[in-house]
Amino acid sequence: AAAVRVVAASATSAEHGVLDPFRIRHQPYWRPVADEVSLYEAAYAARMPVMLKGPTGCGKTRFVEYMAHRLGKPLVTVACHEDMTASDLVGRFLLDAQGTRWQDGPLALAARHGAICYLDEVVEARQDTTVVIHPLTDARRQLPLDKKGELIHAHPDFQLVISYNPGYQSLMKDLKQSTKQRFVALDFDYPEPEVEAEIVAHESGVAREIAEKLVHIGQRSRNLKGHGLDEGLSTRMLIYAAGLIAHGVSPVAACHMALVRPITDDPDMRDALEAAVATYF
Ligand code: ADP
Repeated sequence: AAAVRVVAASATSAEHGVLDPFRIRHQPYWRPVADEVSLYEAAYAARMPVMLKGPTGCGKTRFVEYMAHRLGKPLVTVACHEDMTASDLVGRFLLDAQGTRWQDGPLALAARHGAICYLDEVVEARQDTTVVIHPLTDARRQLPLDKKGELIHAHPDFQLVISYNPGYQSLMKDLKQSTKQRFVALDFDYPEPEVEAEIVAHESGVAREIAEKLVHIGQRSRNLKGHGLDEGLSTRMLIYAAGLIAHGVSPVAACHMALVRPITDDPDMRDALEAAVATYF
């Protein structure tokens, strides 16, 4: 019994150390838009893998940060990209002065010690990389470390969350059905205008009326989606524009810098967006 106690005690202190940098210290601001908080809590209670779907810059990352803080769990975030390999997620042997030593990748770290693991834009990763999450997303909750010859049984607190932008979908880049069907999903979109204005004002400190004008411009741009723009202006971009205004930039210059120039190089689209800006500022 004594030996068990010693092992348990050292395991706990080690866990604290390893996941400490991944704890979210201050409560992130989240303005609820529907019943996403209670639905996520239920999914976490059942330790179901969750997929957050929606366009870029609409609040998916902020939401998972808020939920991790609310649930008191560390959050390990991975920005997925096409050169990412399974080893980048799972881990690899490193060579140092002492010889070779295994280093857990972010997914193994989260599974072993009990964090929420957030794979942002998972569709960017190649499909042969994505399949490493499969054994973690069903009743097995296991992660095989083939190179190390170890099978991790996920910590009871572990949960997997992925984000996915359906707009980027193409034949080359989509999740396999066998991956999709392992998740419950929440749909995200740009919030209703009043709510979005509240968020823009809160995040930037600009007056409500300025935030409302920015949201109008955002909505105009979203109508141009598919008519020359791949995506409309995101909530994040509106917050950037508001942030420049809060720092003394004129509203027109702020909109050109934060909204028009980043999103398109097409002269006609720039004209259309600048006209929308001129309508409000
Ligand atoms: P995504 O992960 O979807 O690309 P983010 O989570 O980075 O987008 O969202 C961009 C910004 O939008 C956030 O930093 C946050 O300021 C803001 N935001 C969007 N929706 C909300 C919301 N409901 N409550 C609070 N902030 C929000």
